Amino acid sequence: QKQEWAKLAGEQTRTKDGKHLELAANIGTPKDLNGVLKNGAEAIGLYRTEFLYMDRSELPSEEEQFEAYKEVVERMDNKPVIIRTLDIGGDKELPYLNLPEEMNPFLGYRAIRICLEEQSIFRVQLRALLRASAFGNVKVMFPMIATLEEVRQAKAIFKEEEERLRSEGVAVADKVELGIMVEIPSTAVAADLFAKEVDFFSIGTNDLIQYTMAADRMNEQVSYLYQPYHPAILRLVKMVVDAAHKEGKWVGMCGEMAGDEVAIPLLLGLGIDELSMSATSILPARSQLLGLSQQELSSFAEEMLGLDSAAEVERRVRERFLTT
Ligand code: PEP
Ligand code: MG
Repeated sequence: QKQEWAKLAGEQTRTKDGKHLELAANIGTPKDLNGVLKNGAEAIGLYRTEFLYMDRSELPSEEEQFEAYKEVVERMDNKPVIIRTLDIGGDKELPYLNLPEEMNPFLGYRAIRICLEEQSIFRVQLRALLRASAFGNVKVMFPMIATLEEVRQAKAIFKEEEERLRSEGVAVADKVELGIMVEIPSTAVAADLFAKEVDFFSIGTNDLIQYTMAADRMNEQVSYLYQPYHPAILRLVKMVVDAAHKEGKWVGMCGEMAGDEVAIPLLLGLGIDELSMSATSILPARSQLLGLSQQELSSFAEEMLGLDSAAEVERRVRERFLTT
């Protein structure tokens, strides 16, 4: 089977009925690129930049960030690279920022909330990203978006830094697509409003599931409630996809669910455009997708939205698509 998969490394991902679905990789540092290239990723769907900021005693400089982003962008050779701005807080700490202790870190001061407050940190990162954009196909994504005001503010700051660099004569790509993570239920529910403001969405199921089910993603005791196939989660995915497509925007997914063999038929059926996963899942996912038809799956997925439990959804998917 491994050999069969290896043959697919240089291929695009097409379903049985000819739909192209982009299979991308999640990375944390430029070191992850070897695995990404070997496994035939069509893009980087999520570059988690917080690792540049962790395990050290001070913020990374603009230059240091620029070098890291540029390395990734250049090695991907014009394939899309979605770089997510700093997503610190929750389970990821930065001791040198002296953030306050909180009762509920996952519901607290994190990610875009910190960046919009501590704008000097945000602006340094955006400048580094903008400079790297001159070397390939960079897209920028903001995490933990809950309101339209946050998106508008983040975009405005991005534009300011872009104009500043241009006026200084620094090379920047003509167009950098700007997107948001959809990982807070309010954003999924109001996706039609957000779709007018962005170039793309990426659904972050790791957080979206924990917030929708009110079950901490790190807590074993409540892990039984952490249910990717719950009809409520599938309905949210559908709302996001439909809202985006109505505005002519594309939708990816970058949580763990994106690389899951049970989820993949459902996501294809719901119309997702891109799946971003750990590099080692890409070839198995590509092989699975070759045997699936989007047309057939759209009515199947629709039917799954009406079932009454995650267990029943999983049983039906396994029975029909994963008999081996
Ligand atoms: C997510 O929430 O699904 C996601 C991809 O981001 P992270 O796991 O970094 O929170
Ligand atoms: Mg997240």
